[in-house]
Amino acid sequence: MKSIPHLEIHLAHACNLACESCSHYSNQGHKGILSLAEAEHSMKLWHRRLVPHTFSLLGGEPSIHPDLPEFVLLARRIWPSAHLRLVTNGFFLHRHPALPAILQRDHNTSIYLSIHHDGPEYAEKLRPVMELLKSWVRNYRIRVNIYLSFKHWTRVYRGSRSAMEPLKNGLPRQSWERCPAKHYP
Ligand code: SF4
Repeated sequence: MKSIPHLEIHLAHACNLACESCSHYSNQGHKGILSLAEAEHSMKLWHRRLVPHTFSLLGGEPSIHPDLPEFVLLARRIWPSAHLRLVTNGFFLHRHPALPAILQRDHNTSIYLSIHHDGPEYAEKLRPVMELLKSWVRNYRIRVNIYLSFKHWTRVYRGSRSAMEPLKNGLPRQSWERCPAKHYP
């Protein structure tokens, strides 16, 4: 078994936002969600080979998925020692009232709220999300971290949709070393 720092899975390929710098390409009109059965099959191909320190549930926007709480339970069953991290922009967390109790029972979990703009309009839209998360922290003692995604924006391709192309500079090693996207959640 090989220990690795991080492994992640897309629960949903679509997103309610369309950030210009999305390094998961969810701003390119991708659709579809992963079923619990598909996820279990994929994870089981790896769970006897890899031991991830952190296993992230993300997308796209994972809270689009109606079975989000069940994914946390599934991930815990498959990766018993991993820190489970739910990476979300937060806007649909209110659709999952069962989630905080599940996170409360599992101490090795956290919500990673990614913030995608620093403008006042975005902050205003985010206000109910922050209120909800504050109430979950207060009532369930869950862990919530805030990640300022907008501080690390970069564009990792040119064009869009079917005309998307990789950036070409002929220096793949240097590009990899400089690319901040590899550190994104
Ligand atoms: S919120 Fe995240 S997944 Fe959605 S478009 Fe923005 S960067 Fe991509």
